[in-house]
Amino acid sequence: MSDLITARIRAHATKLNLPHLAASLEQLTARADRDKMGYLDFLDLVLEEETGVRDGRRFRTALRLSKLPHHKTLDDFDFAFQPDLDVRKVKDLAALSFIETKANAAFLGPPGVGKTHLAVGLAVAACRAGFSVYFTSLDDMVRQLKEAEAHGRLAIKMRTYLKPSVLVVDEVGYQPLERAEANLVFQVISRRYETGSILLTSNKTFSEWGQVFGDDVLATAILDRLLHHCEVISINGPSYRLKNRLTAIEGGTSMA
Ligand code: ADP
Ligand code: MG
Repeated sequence: MSDLITARIRAHATKLNLPHLAASLEQLTARADRDKMGYLDFLDLVLEEETGVRDGRRFRTALRLSKLPHHKTLDDFDFAFQPDLDVRKVKDLAALSFIETKANAAFLGPPGVGKTHLAVGLAVAACRAGFSVYFTSLDDMVRQLKEAEAHGRLAIKMRTYLKPSVLVVDEVGYQPLERAEANLVFQVISRRYETGSILLTSNKTFSEWGQVFGDDVLATAILDRLLHHCEVISINGPSYRLKNRLTAIEGGTSMA
């Protein structure tokens, strides 16, 4: 009799897409027996575990689709190493309400100060919270869009950059763009304006964007939309990449 019920519960759970319940029914009921759970507690346990498994799966899928270069978190970031960085601004962003309001954030500063790390950390937090994320360098986005345009597939490719709740655009300003390329960037920025968030990193100040985009008018149009709702975080400190090297030089020891 109880075998029959077990089999039926499993079948129902599978049909209702509750794989954890289907797979762990015995463990769950054993736990309920052991802890002398009431009906409500048991139901709560079952639903909570199922939700946990589902959230974990959704998180892993979101991370995979995000194409993030690594999965470092904000907890991995040593804020003490970067004393001039406004920690509060980063913590506020980590609450993720900027995604709900379709606002942006820009991390500016020289190489190695942690711009990409912070953008990735926020992106990982966004994935965990159930938002869709896509990471790209500016150059790669331009290359992809140009190629798609040449094959008459621009509209489809655009979706990659327009659909996610958060688009991370890394390394703005490493290479100057041609006019047609800058135009593609303008399309992405203007179409995401007030409809989706952008996390951006750049080694250039905004006043240098005219050179990056090869045209002051276009750069201004891009900045106008990007900065309307944007937290700008400037990091003007030492490079973390050179950290150990500098310590070694200061200490007079040579690097291996
Ligand atoms: P940027 O994008 O500014 O050039 P990255 O974010 O790529 O710099 O940082 C370079 C490396 O140093 C990465 O491995 C990053 O995780 C690490 N890093 C940078 N700043 C910190 C920090 N304050 N605490 C811990 N790791 C850091
Ligand atoms: Mg970087």
